[in-house]
Amino acid sequence: MYDIMTPGPTQVRENVLKARSLPCTNPDLDPDFFTYYKETCELISSLLHTENQTLILGGEGILGLEAACASLTEPGDRVLVLDNGVFGKGFADFVSLYGGEPVLYTADYLHTLNVHELAAYLEKDHAFKYATVIHCDTPSGVLNDISRICPLLKSYGILTVVDSVSAMFGEEVRADDFQIDLLCGGSQKAVSAPPGLTFVTISPNAWETMKKRKQRIASFYANLMAFDGYFEKQWFPYTMPVSDIRGLRAALENIKADPDILKRHARIAGAVRKALTDCGLKLHTHDGWCNTVSVFDVPKETSSASILGALRQDHNLMLAGSFDVLEGQVIRIGHMGENAREEKLAAVMKALDQVLAKLGVPLNGSLEKAYRNALAD
Ligand SMILES: *Cc1c(COP(=O)(O)O)cnc(C)c1O
Repeated sequence: MYDIMTPGPTQVRENVLKARSLPCTNPDLDPDFFTYYKETCELISSLLHTENQTLILGGEGILGLEAACASLTEPGDRVLVLDNGVFGKGFADFVSLYGGEPVLYTADYLHTLNVHELAAYLEKDHAFKYATVIHCDTPSGVLNDISRICPLLKSYGILTVVDSVSAMFGEEVRADDFQIDLLCGGSQKAVSAPPGLTFVTISPNAWETMKKRKQRIASFYANLMAFDGYFEKQWFPYTMPVSDIRGLRAALENIKADPDILKRHARIAGAVRKALTDCGLKLHTHDGWCNTVSVFDVPKETSSASILGALRQDHNLMLAGSFDVLEGQVIRIGHMGENAREEKLAAVMKALDQVLAKLGVPLNGSLEKAYRNALAD
C-alpha cells in the first residue's frame, strides 16, 4: 500500500473504514435508513451553509456533474461554460450530450478567472439558461472565486452550476451566500471517504426549472428529479449503497468536529507553496492557488514519470502527474482532507528532496527545511 498524497482519492480515517464495515440493511425497505440518508443530506447542506436540499447519488464525482447537466439541459438551451482548465472545458461535453448548445468562455489557464473581464462579456451576452463553473480545476489547481462569479451570473438570471468536488472543505463554500443553484461534491477529495459517492445541493430555483421542463430528462441514473419526494414516498429510484453512505456520514462527522479545517488547509498549503518556490521550483499557475492541491512544473532536468516512479519505489509515496493538456508537465501534491496534516507534508517534502537530488535537479536548499520554517512563521 502506498501513502496516497494525491489530489483525490485521499487518505481515509479509520473511523470511516469502520463505519463502512457495519452490517448492511435493506435500504429500500428500512424506514430508519430513509431517515439516516435524509439526515446525512441535511448534514452536507449545513456544512455547505445552505438551506438547499442535498441529494447523495450512488456514483463517483462525475455522476454529479452529469446529473446537473442532464437535469437542467433541454434541447437548444444555451449554456455558458466557463473554461480556464481541463474540467472547466469538460462541462461542454455534458451540455452537448443532452442537446444543449455550450458556449465556451475560454480564459487563460494560468490564472484565476478574471471577474471584471467576465462582467464585461456578460454585459454584451447573457442569454444563457445556466452557467458551469469549476471551483478548483484540479489538473492545474487553479481556484476560481465563486463568491463573486456566481452572484454576477445570478444578477442576469443565469442559474449557477458549481463543481467544487476538489475544493469544498479545503476552501470556503457558502452555497447560499454565493448563490449557487447546483453545487456538486464528491466523497474522495477533501471529504476523505473512498471514491463512490457524489452529492448535489439543489436550490428552489433549480427545482422549479427542472419541474417546468417541456421535455423529459434524457437519463434515468443522472436524473435528479427521480429523487423528488423520496422521503415522503419512502422510495429511492435505485438501491442506495448503504456502506458507502455510512462511510460518508462518518467522514462528514469528522469535518463537523473540526472547526479549524479551513485554517489548517490554508496554513499547510501556504507552507508547501513557500517551500517549493523558495527552493527554486515553479508553481504552475501564476495565481489562484487552491489550498487543497499544489502543482509545480516538472524541472527541465527530469520527467514527470521519473519523479513519480522514484517516489513510489524509494519512498512508497504516491503523488500525481496530470492529464489532458498538462500530461507530463506538472507534479501535483494533494493536501486536502486527511492528507492535510503537517507531518504528512513534511514527509512529502523530505522524499522530494531526495528524489530530486537523485534525478539531478538543483534546488536552492531543502524543501523539508523550508516547509518547516514556513510552518513556524
Ligand atoms: C475529482 C474531480 C471530479 C470527479 O472526477 P474524477 O473521476 O475523480 O476525476 C470532478 N471535478 C473535479 C474538479 C475533480 O477534481
